[in-house]
Amino acid sequence: MSLFSELGLSQEIVSALTDLGYEKPTTIQEKAIPQILSSQDDLKAFAQTGTGKTAAFSLPIIEQIDSKNKNTQAIILSPTRELAIQIGKNIQEFSKNLKNIHITTVYGGASIDDQIRSLKKGSQIVVGTPGRTVDLIKRKLLKLSEIKWVVLDEADEMLNMGFKEDLDQVLKVTPKEKQTLLFSATFPREVDAIAKNYMHNPVEISAGKKNAGADKVSHEYYLVSERNRYPALKRLADVNPDIYGIVFCRTRRDTKNVAAKLIDDGYNADALHGDLSQAQRDIVMEKFRAKHLQLLIATDVAARGLDVNSLTHVINYKLPDQAENYTHRSGRTGRAGKEGISIALINNREKNALKPIEKKIGKKFIQKQVPNGREICENQLFKLIERVKDVEVNDQQIESYLESIDTQLKDISREDLIKKFVSIEFNKFLSYYEGADDLNGDDSKERRRSGDENFTRFYINLGKMDGLNPAKLMGLINENLSKRDVEIGQIEILKSFSFFEIDKAFADKVLQGFEHAEFGGRAVIVEITKKPKGGRSRSGKRGGFGGGRKSRGDSNRSGGGGYKGRSSSRGGKKGGFGGSKRNRR
Ligand code: AMP
Repeated sequence: MSLFSELGLSQEIVSALTDLGYEKPTTIQEKAIPQILSSQDDLKAFAQTGTGKTAAFSLPIIEQIDSKNKNTQAIILSPTRELAIQIGKNIQEFSKNLKNIHITTVYGGASIDDQIRSLKKGSQIVVGTPGRTVDLIKRKLLKLSEIKWVVLDEADEMLNMGFKEDLDQVLKVTPKEKQTLLFSATFPREVDAIAKNYMHNPVEISAGKKNAGADKVSHEYYLVSERNRYPALKRLADVNPDIYGIVFCRTRRDTKNVAAKLIDDGYNADALHGDLSQAQRDIVMEKFRAKHLQLLIATDVAARGLDVNSLTHVINYKLPDQAENYTHRSGRTGRAGKEGISIALINNREKNALKPIEKKIGKKFIQKQVPNGREICENQLFKLIERVKDVEVNDQQIESYLESIDTQLKDISREDLIKKFVSIEFNKFLSYYEGADDLNGDDSKERRRSGDENFTRFYINLGKMDGLNPAKLMGLINENLSKRDVEIGQIEILKSFSFFEIDKAFADKVLQGFEHAEFGGRAVIVEITKKPKGGRSRSGKRGGFGGGRKSRGDSNRSGGGGYKGRSSSRGGKKGGFGGSKRNRR
């Protein structure tokens, strides 16, 4: 791999890059920089977010800008305000050692007067969103008659967002003699049409598969029923206490709903979508960048321009319509040499959507099982231990209490003390996931077990107070039912009584079987009962674990340390808290 100095960039720029920690050019930079420096040809570049494309087009432009000429020489169009600001900021950083180079960033949702003032001082490079750029052109405050470079960044996204007319208007007022650089992650017909209309024999380059970021991403899918999509999302968040990711939804409505539920359930989450005001979006993005939010629920468009390098996960709550957009999403993790996981939550019908994506990414999805309660509790327990190990003790503050603490705890052994401290937090996890359902499986399986028509619901006069848990209840059913392999549906253990469902064909057998049953010396009463309205209640009713424990924006829900240990029982070998729901004897 070459060095930036070998690509034809001046020492001033190379040293600014060194200050930024850019050691070696990325693939797209290696290809684009010498090309743009040495040729006037138009350029069509396939490049995803995160490949280093900003530097790929801006460095050769900065290198060639005539700093003595105050007219605008380069216009860079980008789909969102955030991306425009990011590009403007990058260019400032890249050109910090060069004198008399001025950059103005123009975008909607902010004072136009400040932008006009900056333009009037003379800016050789203007970065803008299409709408505001056209506005300023119309007001004759932005003159593009001496333009040498036009950059269309994320061209596919600009067209997706309905900026076709604005692009036409900008391109119309630029001189014929110029170099057009078009960067796009995908090349649907509309982007090709722009390339055809406005570019002349463009050279094509691609970051291709060498994109180091993409190689570090593993792609996983979880097959769940529609009703279990949200509970599965929560489990994925719970089994990864250090999760820092974007959850992609397809619509604003979904985005709002999922975020509202997560917030309600006590997660550090928030939504990013087009209905938010610019100020609201800024606040959400800042909180996410600062890691005060662990999960950002976003639409594809809203997440554009959010430059975050350390995402652990990208979760496709719903897969995008087009395979190309999946690559946009997954390319947001596995950046800067880190590993990343891109997850798709899919139901049976959506399975077909995986094939075209696999073709596009050149990798296979791996099917994973939604973690059970035990795996989650294990991960959370180890995370807790890690937090205990890492916590900073303020000796001065705690000193005066030590004696009295010591007196109060003196009769408890070290072993018991550890157990007790850990249990303060851990008990919440245990009790939330006790009896938790297996969320794996497609719709048909779900229907079979849904209990609506195929199951009879029973009341039993035993509950948690009696030491009953799902495993014990299944044992009790097995004991008293003289039939093998009877399907057991939902189990709901309450304080002093419980409910369970059994294949309705065996309803009579259950009643007979429990006639003389005993549990812990107590007579057991089992009766047929009505199903609650709306069918199964558990997966819908329960909050996320930790529900209501912490308020929105609380960054400490799961610590924030660096524990990376994984459950050794992945794959469910050790069995879940809910155990198997099949009556096996
Ligand atoms: P971009 O695709 O331009 O949005 O860049 C993605 C991220 O990679 C940004 O945070 C850049 O600062 C960073 N980056 C770009 N090029 C390099 C490089 N050659 N070395 C290290 N980091 C880079």
